[in-house]
Amino acid sequence: MKNKKIYQSNNLLANWIFNQLLKIIRTAKKKKRLVGNLVKLYKVCDLRNTDDKKKEKLSGLIITRKKRTCCIYINFKDAPSEQIKTLIHELGHFIFWWEYEPPIIKLENLIWDALSQEQKEILFEFIRKLKITRQPK
Ligand SMILES: [Zn+2]
Repeated sequence: MKNKKIYQSNNLLANWIFNQLLKIIRTAKKKKRLVGNLVKLYKVCDLRNTDDKKKEKLSGLIITRKKRTCCIYINFKDAPSEQIKTLIHELGHFIFWWEYEPPIIKLENLIWDALSQEQKEILFEFIRKLKITRQPK
């Protein structure tokens, strides 16, 4: 028998979305463009909102730069589950770029609830191996 993808969830839609997230992450790892967009993933030790007076702590951030380059930052001082949620959240902003915070939070929660434990661990592995960078300006 062929080696089944044991990490998959029982939810077919969740599996489909998970595979799309992997596609973005793997393309980012290879530094290749995905339909014209370049995604860069980083983790940061202490991510703060520099637009905010109190400089409140952030879990993640996505910044669109020139030449359709999207830089995603994840605060790796957060708990692993929080970091995975942040990755899903920021990728949600990348895919559904026209949306604001509430629908993206909803999407993050829906995906989080639907993924299997193994799928979450796979996502965390990617974060674990990310390059550490400084707080973006
Ligand atoms: Zn957001």
